[in-house]
Amino acid sequence: KNGAVKPALTLLIAAPRGFCAGVDRAIEIVERSLERYGAPVYVRHEIVHNKFVVDGLKAKGAIFVEELDEVPDGAPVVFSAHGVPKAVPAEAQRRGLDYLDATCPLVSKVHRQAERQIEANRHIVFVGHSGHPEVIGTMGQVPEGMMTLVETVEDVKALDFAADTPLAFLTQTTLSVDDTAEIVRTLQVKYPQIVGPKAEDICYATSNRQAAVKQIAPGSDLVLVIGAGNSSNSVRLVEVSEKCGTDAKLIRRASDIDPAWLEGVGTLGLTAGASAPEELVREVVDKIAEWRDVEEHTLVTAEEKMVFKLPRQLLD
Ligand code: SF4
Repeated sequence: KNGAVKPALTLLIAAPRGFCAGVDRAIEIVERSLERYGAPVYVRHEIVHNKFVVDGLKAKGAIFVEELDEVPDGAPVVFSAHGVPKAVPAEAQRRGLDYLDATCPLVSKVHRQAERQIEANRHIVFVGHSGHPEVIGTMGQVPEGMMTLVETVEDVKALDFAADTPLAFLTQTTLSVDDTAEIVRTLQVKYPQIVGPKAEDICYATSNRQAAVKQIAPGSDLVLVIGAGNSSNSVRLVEVSEKCGTDAKLIRRASDIDPAWLEGVGTLGLTAGASAPEELVREVVDKIAEWRDVEEHTLVTAEEKMVFKLPRQLLD
């Protein structure tokens, strides 16, 4: 009602949050392809796991498909940031399709490591979440049967390789930093000969966003994470907050917020997964300000300056 006093709310916003360099690059690849080739440009899989981003690109003339056989001959096609199995560019080449690879360079780096370990005759243990497109893409870099997926410490305990099997481990880029450290430690104890990257392959953006949530969660009564249910790094942010003892809710955008959640909340934490645009953060802040007298604080735990080059086809 007019003149009604809104109760105060302290809003702790995590930084870094939202878009990472790989997501920025992937979206720019689709936008520039649309300018260069004209609509429609096909995109295999959601370019990044965010409906708002996907809808925005659809409106500009992108057509999203799940498999290459849905792309007509002669049309340009972009592969999503999550990466694709080797069979996909091979098939695109066979069909003479003009394809652009928006695979994040940090995912491609893991792909190359996988190839190298196979060349060195090591079997690979891959730490990741079954069914995620990045996992399908990375496992598709090596011949069938050369890579074994583990998701948990229990999975590692159940592995039955002979004690002296040459082994290497690699990881998905968007895992929980803490859970992965435990899985890797278990692997190293069970198979001391196992080789792997110096740290895991978890990317800078994933670890920075998790560290940032650890700063806001303990002082918050509730944390809102803007992201999608199929976005691995967003779901991890919810888990990290819950591990700090603070309830967290994954929301796609402002309209997902149930005002009842805010009852009794004096301090609210807010962050966004790597595929969620800053526009949605502002939308959420504005929505909350309709109900509460918001005092906004941003807690910066790291500065990010990462920028990735575009594919050659788009540079000249
Ligand atoms: Fe690349 Fe990490 Fe962003 Fe994934 S989350 S696109 S690996 S920078």
